[in-house]
Amino acid sequence: MVFPPSRIPDTTATLRPDSPTGAGPGGRVPLAVGIDIGGTKVAAGVVDGRGRILAELRRSTPGRDPRAVEQVIVELVGELAARHDIEAVGIGAAGWMDLAGARVVFSPHLAWRDEPLQATMESLLGRPVLITNDADAAAWAEWRFGAGRGHERLIMLTLGTGIGGALMIDGRVERGSFGMAGEFGHQIIMPGGHRCECGNRGCWEQYASGNALGREGRELAKKHSPMAAGLLDAVQGRHKDITGNVVTGRRGGVFSLLRVGGKAAHSGSRMAEGISAIEELAHKILAIHAMTDHAAGISFNVGLVRGGQSVNSVAPWAEAEIDMRYRTPEQREAATVRLTEIVARSTVPGTTAELTIKGEFLPMLAQSPGGKALFELYQQAARASGFAVEGEFTNGCADSGFTAALGAPTLCATGPQGYGGHSLDERLRLDSLVPRAQAAARTILWLERAGL
Ligand SMILES: [Zn+2]
Repeated sequence: MVFPPSRIPDTTATLRPDSPTGAGPGGRVPLAVGIDIGGTKVAAGVVDGRGRILAELRRSTPGRDPRAVEQVIVELVGELAARHDIEAVGIGAAGWMDLAGARVVFSPHLAWRDEPLQATMESLLGRPVLITNDADAAAWAEWRFGAGRGHERLIMLTLGTGIGGALMIDGRVERGSFGMAGEFGHQIIMPGGHRCECGNRGCWEQYASGNALGREGRELAKKHSPMAAGLLDAVQGRHKDITGNVVTGRRGGVFSLLRVGGKAAHSGSRMAEGISAIEELAHKILAIHAMTDHAAGISFNVGLVRGGQSVNSVAPWAEAEIDMRYRTPEQREAATVRLTEIVARSTVPGTTAELTIKGEFLPMLAQSPGGKALFELYQQAARASGFAVEGEFTNGCADSGFTAALGAPTLCATGPQGYGGHSLDERLRLDSLVPRAQAAARTILWLERAGL
């Protein structure tokens, strides 16, 4: 069984060779939308029968929830169809598609498991939909329009989050007996090696993909390997600390002090008369840490504890310093209510407790229209200064939260790049100083022109 190119809407037959736009009789241009679903981005493009991309849109991949990903596809196609005459939609995604092009059997980086994606999307979009493996689609496209033109045998390797592959023989994508042919990224090159999302160990993808490079760089950097300085440069854009992205969203944070009071007593002769503040604090710490929900972006860390007066006394006092991080003001409010309840509830009878806020960083929310416009302006300024930049949400807090909370469009981390922040090995990349300063200056100079 082979991938039939004829299933991709073949519009070339209706094109007039003398028409530069590919318009058919009556000036009508039959078009399709191609969707590429990646681990981080969903890209959509309007393509004509000659493989030309006429319009493009991108969205972040909304987590691993299949319904949310489908919704993003519907929105992208809707937006493009409002401006173009779209006849059909093709969807390429990393994963194992069945031979009929109807179901996603398994996708290691997305949440689809035996999903009838073709039927779902055809009913949602009201148009014929073709689904296929992203590397298979890329191989076919290169064979038809790109580097593989005129060749009947070719191999495609797609390097990104993972490693995808495809095989074309005699002008057809060879899909094998089950639709899995050409998955070179999941060849085992290191028996017993790193665990792969596919379930096996030691796949090539675990050693040579973008993810693998990033992991190795981070491991070396963490171990303060002498290789790390050079390697950090080599993997720029992969290592978490040296992505060079500007920060368009930050979590908020509250640093607070929890002080618990008890009653001292000699622990040898009169322990029953004492009230242990340390015991009460221990209960409270467990309850506080249990409120952490990394997926929701809220975390509680007791980073410091003190207390007691001597080893043979029941502890009359104990205190803990708490670092709470959150994404939205609503989370802060709900967490504060729960924290207040924990502080007020005594497990050890007779203890007292009070909570004092010592410092606070407000969250910086990414999606305000002004913030988005400012970010896009900065992206143009960065391009003019010779580098590309993306936005990212960071778990760190900063003063930028205060201006963002007041409604002012805010960007953060536009300074020079570096790595090893908050450690003795913190470094600055000197070569990033001038272009980053130029981009910041250009952004400021262009503010008025952009209506900001
Ligand atoms: Zn694998």
